[in-house]
Amino acid sequence: MPVDYFISYTSADKTWAEWIGWVLEEAGATVRLQAWDFAPGSNFVLEMQRAASAHRTIAVLSPDYLTSRFAAPEWAAAFAQDLEGLSRRLVPVRVRDCALEGMLRTIVHIDLVGLDEAAARKQLSDGLGAKRGKPDRAPPFPGTALAGPGAGNPKAFPGTSPGSTVASLTTPEPDMDWYLTLSRQRGTKPRCPFASVEGCPRYYQSLSLLGQAGSTKIPADEEDRLKAIWEKSDLWPRTDEGATSVSLFDSRPSIFSNFCPEVSYDRFHLFASGLCRYADKIDIGFAHQELGRAGVPGTNWQWAWASINPMHFTECPVYSPLTHRESLPAGTGAGKNELEPAEALDEKPAELMTLKPNFHGIGIDLKEVGRRIRRRFKTP
Ligand code: SF4
Repeated sequence: MPVDYFISYTSADKTWAEWIGWVLEEAGATVRLQAWDFAPGSNFVLEMQRAASAHRTIAVLSPDYLTSRFAAPEWAAAFAQDLEGLSRRLVPVRVRDCALEGMLRTIVHIDLVGLDEAAARKQLSDGLGAKRGKPDRAPPFPGTALAGPGAGNPKAFPGTSPGSTVASLTTPEPDMDWYLTLSRQRGTKPRCPFASVEGCPRYYQSLSLLGQAGSTKIPADEEDRLKAIWEKSDLWPRTDEGATSVSLFDSRPSIFSNFCPEVSYDRFHLFASGLCRYADKIDIGFAHQELGRAGVPGTNWQWAWASINPMHFTECPVYSPLTHRESLPAGTGAGKNELEPAEALDEKPAELMTLKPNFHGIGIDLKEVGRRIRRRFKTP
């Protein structure tokens, strides 16, 4: 069975290779390196072939490595299997000062040169985890403000005070309380009034895609009818970037994009338009280590997801056009687009789906779907 990492190094960097291997195994990954795994008497070529089938190869870069005749075939084998770097089969880690040339220059490397142990651990786990590098707080405005009232004396962000922690600036937990609080503050209904397959194309598409990804499917005849109607609507996405989508990784639904936050909540208990799972168990291992170290509660979304985009329905790009149109497409069963009076703000509407332990165990409450459709369109 292929291991997660093969560590390629020269004897001059054996201590670095062992340290990297140790850190990776601590994080739950499986590792193969010559010092630990090539026993005396074993066939070196066969051992190398076995090692080269690892999911990723780490090349421990130093002046010795770059001039070694034996190291080049090791990293070149990983490079050749992933020329575009999409699977990150080759991960160069620079441990001593050296200038990268040729093909190695084209691959983003992890730099441990000059770091202390704590910083090197973080650099390694961040680099291998390959999270998006977007910072938690907004970057400062790079331009120069024109002179005017208040110029040069910016007001402090009202939500923070000196000494406040980074945790207060990170992505919120988009749960029901968060959502209802925003609804109350914005004077809107508690939940999106268009949240039904007949009321919103994105809601329909999100539910339909979940069905294709293993959740309960919309009945086939209903699916065909709704698809035919919504595809003709001007609200149907015309570009891939704007389309609701589910991307698979290792055959598992992993990235949910442009989703209806109402559907995301019913399925994942998070109001979010985008959700991205960790790439693999290595990423999960690193993330869980960091979360445990930071004392993040076990209920926090970060234990299950690498990133999410929380969204309230008033920020949804489909919500505004829907509120401004007179009627919904013919055939949806909807007539004039009148919103019913606001529900009691503290009401927590019934769950549309029942969350079960695994992805395939999701059931849609069809009675609740019907109730929502009748309530929305006032059908008897
Ligand atoms: S939140 Fe947006 S996508 Fe979802 S039902 Fe409302 S308008 Fe449609």
